[in-house]
Amino acid sequence: MTAPQTAVQAVNPRSGESVGRPVPETTAAQLAGLLAAAADAAAAFGTSEPGTRTALLHALAARLDERTDELAALAEQESGLPLTRLTGEVARTSGQLRLFAEVIEDGGYLEVHADSADPGAVPPQPELRRWLEPAGPVLIFAASNFPFAFSILGGDTASALASGCPVIVKAHPAHPGLSKLVGELASAVLAELDLPAGVFSVIFGDERGVEALRDPRIQAAGFTGSTAGGRFLFDVAAGRPAPIPFYGELGSINPAVVTPAAAAARGEQIAAGFAASMTLGTGQFCTKPGLLFLPAGHGMEQALAAAVGAVAAAPMLNARIRGQFDGGIASLARHDGVRRVSNGDAAVPANGSWAAPALFATTAQAVAADPASLTREYFGPASLMVEYRDAADLHAALAAVEGSLTATVHAEPGDDFDLAGLLGRLRVLAGRVIYNGWPTGVAVAWAMNHGGPWPATTSAAHTSVGATAIRRWLRPVCYQSLPDELLPAGLRAANPWHLPRRVNGVLTEAE
Ligand code: NAP
Repeated sequence: MTAPQTAVQAVNPRSGESVGRPVPETTAAQLAGLLAAAADAAAAFGTSEPGTRTALLHALAARLDERTDELAALAEQESGLPLTRLTGEVARTSGQLRLFAEVIEDGGYLEVHADSADPGAVPPQPELRRWLEPAGPVLIFAASNFPFAFSILGGDTASALASGCPVIVKAHPAHPGLSKLVGELASAVLAELDLPAGVFSVIFGDERGVEALRDPRIQAAGFTGSTAGGRFLFDVAAGRPAPIPFYGELGSINPAVVTPAAAAARGEQIAAGFAASMTLGTGQFCTKPGLLFLPAGHGMEQALAAAVGAVAAAPMLNARIRGQFDGGIASLARHDGVRRVSNGDAAVPANGSWAAPALFATTAQAVAADPASLTREYFGPASLMVEYRDAADLHAALAAVEGSLTATVHAEPGDDFDLAGLLGRLRVLAGRVIYNGWPTGVAVAWAMNHGGPWPATTSAAHTSVGATAIRRWLRPVCYQSLPDELLPAGLRAANPWHLPRRVNGVLTEAE
């Protein structure tokens, strides 16, 4: 007898009530079929003409745009996020798909190199042609906090499809109805374009996610979520008989440093900007500034307390995240070296998963002495203000901060603070360094880096946002002495895909 199929039920975090019908978890037999279909599709999709993949990405983007109102309304029910934010996120997600179509058209991402044979060289050099090829079927674990941009058709999926890898997405259980609908829309687009169904599929259920990750047909995986979950899955990927790359984006504390001159010149403005950034999306952004370093005598506490205190309570994504947040800030509040600056006592409805913003204060010395407690990420609307006495005090605390997605500096023109020294420390710590701005709001652009040293990610060499996110799903292959007609189309001498190439070390534009 087979075990009864379980299901994933969405709950509205505003009210605590169920949304829609439960979505059945994928069965083991269904997963086996999807993995086989992805593996079958890999060769043809991986060698497809660039135009095949740009057409797919444009069609997926158009379908999302056409259905924006319906999708955003469902996402609002399942995530509790505001409708305007979700409508904007659909546009961001279709924009991401179109960006990767541009990346394909540009062709530079393939890193084509061609070296001529040189029999007279010592040792003799054969003819070599190298470029990047798709890794094969990719498994993506969708995130909870961006139901579109980091979910079913989010940046991980868009970049993997652009590279020519079939994609299986493990849906996040917090928005199952939306995941199912977006998956169905995508599958319909594949069918309309006569592409194999195995190019894209969605699965439900945490066990199925782990089983898929262990399957030898999966060649790489992407993940956005908790440090504990990401580490567990990273270890699964590394522990396979044939290990695969696992690109996880996990936890990030995102320190922000204000110099004495900036505090004096723009204290109120900085307080307002910080409060807006730390409470955006109810603090559920991986780029939320979790530590705000302020110089002794900064005089900003009142403005910070007022700005944070003025932000209303809002629903968090689900009861589990709300529970972790409550537990986290309760332990922070109990710490001997910490005091509460803003009460976070905005009215919090009893039903659903609501939270009010909270701001705490400590010193750089306390951070240096107990980084395990004081540099932990609290996913939600809470941050810690850290007062430093001088540059040495600040550096000692920053040295105790783990890798982050971002690090921010607020300074003034002609600032007499040692900014070069500070930036030297921050660039080791983080994947994106921000000057006089805030880290939330990650631009989807060619130059973006959304990555950083552990535990921000499992691989600091890569980004999960921006054009170069495609690099994660590719691997180099060099062809030695192959007759032109046996080379992959894009590498042939006539350059039929019009790719930019480095020929004998010299960069040549696309012809
Ligand atoms: P999560 O618990 O890490 O889950 C993310 C995805 O990974 C889900 O699909 C989850 O599936 C799967 N997963 C995690 N651990 C698993 C395991 N042991 N076995 C199988 N599947 C596993 O993240 P979350 O639910 O989105 O949020 C929880 C916490 O993650 C937050 O409180 C926050 O700290 C962090 N978070 C960070 C970011 C970021 O951008 N870095 C984004 C969102 C959340 P199941 O739920 O089905 O097990």
